[in-house]
Amino acid sequence: MTGTTAIRKIDAEQEKLIDLSKKMWEHPETAYNEVEASKWTAELLKEYGFEVETGAYGLPTCVVGRWGSGKPVVGFLGELDALPGLSQKVCDTKDPVSPDAPGQGCGHNLLNVACLAGALGAKAEMEEKKLPGTLVFYACPAEEVLTGKVFMARNGAFKDLDICFAWHGSSKNQVSFGTMNGLNSAIFHYSGRTAHAGGAPWQGRSALDAAEIANVGANYLREHVTPDIRIHYSYKEAGTAPNIVPDRASVWYYVRGLSREAIEDAYRRLVLCAEGAAHMTETDLEVEFLGGCYNTMPNRVLTDLAHDTMEEIGVPVWSDEEKAFADSLNRQSPRFEEVSKSGELEKGPIHSVVCPVEEEFGGGSTDVGDVDHICPCCQVNTATYNLAAPGHSWQITACAGMSIGFKGMLFGGKVLAASALKAIESPELIEKAKAEFAEKTKNSPYKCPIGPEIPVPQPKC
Ligand SMILES: [Zn+2]
Repeated sequence: MTGTTAIRKIDAEQEKLIDLSKKMWEHPETAYNEVEASKWTAELLKEYGFEVETGAYGLPTCVVGRWGSGKPVVGFLGELDALPGLSQKVCDTKDPVSPDAPGQGCGHNLLNVACLAGALGAKAEMEEKKLPGTLVFYACPAEEVLTGKVFMARNGAFKDLDICFAWHGSSKNQVSFGTMNGLNSAIFHYSGRTAHAGGAPWQGRSALDAAEIANVGANYLREHVTPDIRIHYSYKEAGTAPNIVPDRASVWYYVRGLSREAIEDAYRRLVLCAEGAAHMTETDLEVEFLGGCYNTMPNRVLTDLAHDTMEEIGVPVWSDEEKAFADSLNRQSPRFEEVSKSGELEKGPIHSVVCPVEEEFGGGSTDVGDVDHICPCCQVNTATYNLAAPGHSWQITACAGMSIGFKGMLFGGKVLAASALKAIESPELIEKAKAEFAEKTKNSPYKCPIGPEIPVPQPKC
């Protein structure tokens, strides 16, 4: 079977693979600060015989590992960053390792290693069979702020790939054919004039008023955008005390939608609301555009290939301890009732079948969307946490630091490796994936949402 050697290799190397994942779990680093994770990833890639580039594409923490030569060129998308505030011990009650510290609440410590394992397994089998082709593993920074791969793409990444594989830990084993939103992210900074709010309010020009009026404008705007558009915000700065007219206020917006065109148009109109608010309050507005990303657009040919491969390999078997742990987490989850009602929990507290491919809509965003618009790409998900875990939660952090996460991660790596090998062995399949991609993008070639004027964020440590 295609993939046998790859799977054997991943099994043989599991100790080292799990070790890298554990180190990333124990030392979670947030977006653009993934200094140690980047270093450890580069070391392991070198040890496995990949040609390693650090600081790739102008991003200090980005690492690329290449192996092989010629066509096809196959990519694997690892991630490096953790989430702020989601520190959690490996235990079944909410208990942070360190309060307010970052944690692997999206399981990117598993993600990075599953994709590295995919490349490693594929390499072993290509060496044995003397298959032509190039493997490129990307350890990508800053997925959680949705711009890491966008900066990479702006600086030339992914465009030489024939096909690409992404993986994410999940509550289910399923290759996702759903769509996720693209996004624009910007902060509106207002500056006005301070004054005594009781004594001489007429002398003040409130930056906070401006921010609030901009929000009112956005509230009205929501009625007149296409149904896919989601506009949400939070305050970054909103004054200091009620008796001082605030001279500075900042409000941070996301505009999400299912195409770049829809996002750009809604964003343009949101900026008009922000400008109008400045005009009304006699304050100054500075728009800090933080970046944007594309909606996802999974490739059907690759999705079906990965789905069939997942079924062939077969899902991990969970131990009684793992099931008990997951069951306890499920019962504490706000999603428990909803998941119970669906009947899914009757089959067990952790997913143990392969779901059919479904066209689900996910409201969130990922910068994998940009890669989807540069080359044919698919996203494999395998179960790495309990069925009812909420997204970005302490429950996911807990599972990502233990055997539940590691088993799902190694399974994911095997699916990626075997899928890549099947594609490499059948050039007609790659041609089919590319033809689908060409058809879907014929009227909208990739245009990077981040312009050349925006600098790459640098590590703060
Ligand atoms: Zn994630």
